[in-house]
Amino acid sequence: MLVVMRHNATKADVDAVVRVIGEMGYQAQALPGAQRTAVGVVGNDGRVDGSRIEGMSGVSEVIHVSQPYKQVSREWRPESSIVTIAPGVSFGGDEIQIIAGPCSVENERQIVSAAQLVRDAGATALRGGAFKPRSSPYSFQGLGKKGLELLALARQETGLPIVTEAMDEEGAHLVAEFADCIQIGARNMQNYSLLKAVGKIGKPVLLKRGMAATINDLLLSAEYILAEGNDQVILCERGVRSFDPATRNLFDLTAIPIVHKLSHLPIIADPSHGTGLRDKVTPMARASLAAGADGLMIEVHPTPERAMSDGGQSLFPEQFAELVPQLRLIADAIGRKIARPPAHAAR
Ligand code: PEP
Ligand code: MN
Repeated sequence: MLVVMRHNATKADVDAVVRVIGEMGYQAQALPGAQRTAVGVVGNDGRVDGSRIEGMSGVSEVIHVSQPYKQVSREWRPESSIVTIAPGVSFGGDEIQIIAGPCSVENERQIVSAAQLVRDAGATALRGGAFKPRSSPYSFQGLGKKGLELLALARQETGLPIVTEAMDEEGAHLVAEFADCIQIGARNMQNYSLLKAVGKIGKPVLLKRGMAATINDLLLSAEYILAEGNDQVILCERGVRSFDPATRNLFDLTAIPIVHKLSHLPIIADPSHGTGLRDKVTPMARASLAAGADGLMIEVHPTPERAMSDGGQSLFPEQFAELVPQLRLIADAIGRKIARPPAHAAR
């Protein structure tokens, strides 16, 4: 339930509403907005009787949030949220951000050259896994802390903020020390203790859709993070499992306009994991922007044929450099803009 206050409501009116909600056994949260102040009710998972509140001084209307998720819904916050991972790198506004880099951090030369080349081609953030959730326990698991240190070095060299995955609570604290945005991978979308942990840490989170998750599941997982007080959440469509082995996953671009309708959170698209096929990444990256994605995450490797993970879906540097100007044209056609890489720090 959301209690929308009148423009001329006083602080005493808002305080009284908060008190009554508390007396009803729920938690109230004042939400000062650009247009209006509202008081949100949390701590309930069913309909709350709003009749006691409707007649109170300063109350304009009582809205029943019809979805099982509350704080992530557009009913709760009608304006689109903007999530900023570093100065000038914001998701959810007119500007579209491109996160690019290899699947995994492999060594200093690989990650630093990847960072330089994606930045020179127009990427605005660097990706690269230090902790890798591999389907097989015998596959390369990532460099761990050393990988995070190498990412920090790549950031220093290029000025690009870092997006990297955390797989468990302990790892989340470590990742938070190095990263600008903590990625929660598809396999962990419903790891609720991890979601709560990153909610408490408070750093921006990139939450990827689970491979068998509905859009409702994705939004409920995001709700776990917001419920801990962290509203800096970017969602990511990365494909779901299907019966068709023609692609690695079934890239669900319809999720983008659906999420935009249901939620105020930004959503980006990952055509690399979405298709699993290098030559399908370019057309689906273009399609993602046309569908309204607030950003892209694309795997690019300096030498994909030597990659320790996901080489077959990683773009060659030249392919990425060719793609970005095409994305600028598409963004232009729909009244948006591809952000420019952040001003260079040190080189
Ligand atoms: C990744 O981004 O490297 C990754 C493992 O993605 P996902 O969690 O979507 O499979
Ligand atoms: Mn990968």
